This record gives sequence, C-alpha cells and structure tokens, in this order.
Amino acid sequence: MRSKIVAGNWKMNKNGAETEALLAELSAKLPDTTAEVMVAPTFVNLVGAVRSLESSTIEVIAQNMHYAENGAFTGEISADMLLNVGVDTVLIGHSERRAYFGETDAILAKKVVAALAKNMRIIFCFGEELEDRKSDNHFNVVASQLKNALFSLEASTWKNIVLAYEPVWAIGTGETASPEQAQEMHAFIRKTITESFDATIANNVSILYGGSVKPNNAVEIFSKPDVDGGLIGGAALVADDFVAIIKAI
Ligand code: PGA
Repeated sequence: MRSKIVAGNWKMNKNGAETEALLAELSAKLPDTTAEVMVAPTFVNLVGAVRSLESSTIEVIAQNMHYAENGAFTGEISADMLLNVGVDTVLIGHSERRAYFGETDAILAKKVVAALAKNMRIIFCFGEELEDRKSDNHFNVVASQLKNALFSLEASTWKNIVLAYEPVWAIGTGETASPEQAQEMHAFIRKTITESFDATIANNVSILYGGSVKPNNAVEIFSKPDVDGGLIGGAALVADDFVAIIKAI
C-alpha cells in the first residue's frame, strides 16, 4: 500500500513569526488522517519549524538542496546540513527551480543521487509546459524528465522516492489539470516506471498531483486511483485551506 501524502510548498513566503503562527494554527486544526502531512518552509525557518513540530506528526521538509557534499558553493545548502537540523525529505526539481534557476535534468539527476546517497527521501517534481500539452507532446516530456533524472537509479532506492506531477501551466495559475488529465498522466507515469523497472516499484511509488489544488477541487482530484495526494502551493499558506485539503484525502 503506497502512502497518501499532502505536502505544502511554502515557496519564498512567511517570515519567522508568520511561520510559527501558521504551524501553530495547523497543529491545532490538524484533522485525524492516515495521510502523511508535510510542510516546506524557507531554509531560514527550518530549524524553528522542526522545533515547533517536535511533538506533531507534521513533517518539516526542504524546498531544495545542492548536490555537493560541502565547499565553495555560495548560497547553497547540502543534504548533510538538512539532516543535521532534522530534515530528511527534500523537494527536487520544482518547476520554479527549473525555470528561474537553470536547474536542468542533468543537475537534478545529481541532486537526486546526492539526496538518496544520504538516505534522504525525495519528492521529485516534474511536468510539462502549456506548449507541450498543446502540441500533444506532454507524455514525451514527462517520460524524458523521469528518465533523465531517475531511470539510472538502483531499484532499491525507489522506496525513498515520491513523485509530484505538476503541469507548469497549472502552477499558481488557478487553472488545474482536470481530474481525468491528472489520472491519465499518473497512470502513464506508472506504466513508464513498470517498463523501466517493474510493476511493484510502479505500484508502490506515491504520485502526488500539484498545480492549483484548492479546497474546492481536492476531493475530485484525490478520488482518482493513481493520485496519491497533492503538492500544494498557494493554498498551503492558509491553515483552513490546507486543513480542508488534508480532509479531502
Ligand atoms: P500552487 O503551487 O498550488 O500555488 O499552484 C503548486 C506548487 O508549485 O507546488
């Protein structure tokens, strides 16, 4: 049985006090759920968040990391640094990292290897742009993003991998993939993994959908058999919205 996961990607939002306030409200309102609940505050607020959630089931995760162990990489954070503050799950390959910070499939492949080598869990993000979908190239784009970053890995590492399909045209736009489009792509992803690895790995990997998930569309999206949860941006910044999305799973 694969895990159900609802993860909030806070992006570059919330200062220290705001982080604490949102976590306190989330903790107080957290519904009973079998799903794993995660939040990704900014790097500077990770330490405080881990401390605040010490006795909570909510997991604190990171939005990014560098692939090097340490050294002359000004402004970067390593896997060991995250682990050292109690963070052992990291988002890799978010479309904003790809689009604004030049993170190519080759760079992401290195990050994946570096994180898994430290036994971290990764949430690997990928998805097509609008032009890809309009030109009916979305399956090819997704297959190549997966292949370039993940398909040279050892089969045994897949237990630490979560996938997040996030069509770029749906992120922060208010436009979501329809539940049918999400299901169709998630099923395609499982088929692609079955072909490159095997059906057990494909059936055990949690595949989250991301892109304008809100309280009013979460139930329908999460009802699809191959959608195992969501990576939530904007709606994760409002406790009541995030809680409603957790209840939807
Ligand atoms: P959104 O962001 O929910 O605001 O569309 C999703 C994401 O970027 O992970």
